[in-house]
Amino acid sequence: MPAELLLRRGLVDDVGDRHRRVALRPLAGRDEARLADRDDALVAQSDEDAVHEVLATCVERLGGYRDVTPVHVAALSRGDRQRLALALRALMIGDQLVLTLRCPRPDCGELADLELRVSALLDEGSTDAPAEPEWWTVDTPAGKLRLRTPTGADDEALAALAGSPAERAAAFWNRLIDADWAALDTTSRQLLARTLAGSGSLPDLTFASPCPACRALLELELNPFDLLVRELALGTDRLLAEVHCLAFHYGWSEDAILGLPRARRWRYLELLRQQLDGRPLV
Ligand SMILES: [Zn+2]
Repeated sequence: MPAELLLRRGLVDDVGDRHRRVALRPLAGRDEARLADRDDALVAQSDEDAVHEVLATCVERLGGYRDVTPVHVAALSRGDRQRLALALRALMIGDQLVLTLRCPRPDCGELADLELRVSALLDEGSTDAPAEPEWWTVDTPAGKLRLRTPTGADDEALAALAGSPAERAAAFWNRLIDADWAALDTTSRQLLARTLAGSGSLPDLTFASPCPACRALLELELNPFDLLVRELALGTDRLLAEVHCLAFHYGWSEDAILGLPRARRWRYLELLRQQLDGRPLV
C-alpha cells in the first residue's frame, strides 16, 4: 500500500501548476539489489544523485506525474526532499526512530537514546497546509529582490562547484535570486539569508536532550538522506542471504523474491524461523 504525503512546495510544471500530492511505495528487493551495486558510493557520501534515484524509484505518483524520474525529484525543494526521505524511511523501516547520542563532555561520554516518531516530524506539513510560495519577495537596501528555495538541482550544482567558499556561495545564491550576489551589500545578503532560514520550507530536524548522567545538553541535527541511505545499506548487506534462504525453502526464483518489498520478505523469513523453531505460525 502506498503512503501519501503532501509536499510543501511540490513540483512546478511548465505552465506554473503545482504538483504536491505524492504516493510512495517501498523499494522492492530488485531496487535494493541495484542500490547495493553502488553501495560504496552511496555510503561514502550519500551523494545527491543516488538519493534522487532512490526517491524517484519510490515515488509512484507526484501530482499529475505518473512516471517520476530523478530529474523530477531534483526539481523539488530541499525541504520537500527531506520530507520524502523521512516518509520513505517510515514506510520501509517504521515510524519509530531511535537515535543514540554521546555526551560531548570528555569526562562524561555517556550514551543516551533519543526516541522520535517520524510522523511527528512530518506532521506540520502533511495535512492541508497551503502551498509554499514559489518565490519570496524581499525588501532590501538594494531594492525588492526575488528569492526561491534551493532545489535538488541547486544542491547537485553546489556539490560540483569549484573555487573558494565565497565564490561557491556567490554562484549558489545567484541561482536563487534575481540579482548578482557579489554586487549586493551585507545587509541585503543578510536579509535574503534570514528570509530563507525563516521561510519554514525545511522541516525542523534539530533535537536537544539533557545527558542522563551530567545534564549537559546533547544536540543533534538529523540528516534524513544520510539516515535513509545508511539504513537501506544495512539491509542490502543481508539481501543475498535472504534471497538464498527464501529460494532454498520455498523454491521461488530469484526474480520473484526480488519483486517483494523488504517488509514482505522479512515477514516470510520470520514465518520460516517460527516454523523451523517449531513455534506456532499464528
Ligand atoms: Zn554527560
